[in-house]
Amino acid sequence: MMGTEQTDTLYIHDFIPVTEVEGPGKRASLLVQGCSIRCKGCMVPHTWKREEGKPVHVGELLRRIRSNHEIEGLTVLGGEPMDQAKALLPLLTGVKDAGLSLIVFTGYEREQIRDAAGEKIIALCDILIDGPYMQEYTDFSRPYIGSANQQIRFLTDRYASLKEQLLSGKQKIEVRLSTDGAVKINGLLPKELLEELQRELSGRAAEDRNDKS
Ligand code: SF4
Repeated sequence: MMGTEQTDTLYIHDFIPVTEVEGPGKRASLLVQGCSIRCKGCMVPHTWKREEGKPVHVGELLRRIRSNHEIEGLTVLGGEPMDQAKALLPLLTGVKDAGLSLIVFTGYEREQIRDAAGEKIIALCDILIDGPYMQEYTDFSRPYIGSANQQIRFLTDRYASLKEQLLSGKQKIEVRLSTDGAVKINGLLPKELLEELQRELSGRAAEDRNDKS
């Protein structure tokens, strides 16, 4: 279900202050928590339950994004952003008011988004990537997306000059190792490959910690 409740709290899975694999340039990346679409074969089923997310105040998140002068924009993915459209709208309005660019991923098809908040979010997007992940159409030949039915829509001129370059780019990932030894991977790879890489890198990080202790 698309979100209908008015709230200034957003449930998130993760927030990455700077990434280079979720769209053009350096961007902040916001992964919302909760998805009612639940595609078969989804690569991030751990983002489905909203109640397992971290509640954050929209104003605080906006302050963090706007005070980061290293980034040119924000990418929102999930989970399903449109399930929390009313909480997201003021955040994304503030992001665009600051001159930052906006990319939103949604598992809904553009034509299915009819509620006022969802429509307003689409009006703010420079790029909208829409459509559910469909396992039977799995295709990693385009950057950022995993199935052939999904569309990358350039809704403003902001990245028009980069269109060919972006569409012909390769999938990329980033790996982060935190001080507590946790390994985080963002970006897109086939699920099995991603899980194998996560296991391998987590195992090596644990070995390193044991060697040092
Ligand atoms: S819309 Fe995205 S997060 Fe939701 S089930 Fe589909 S692939 Fe997973």
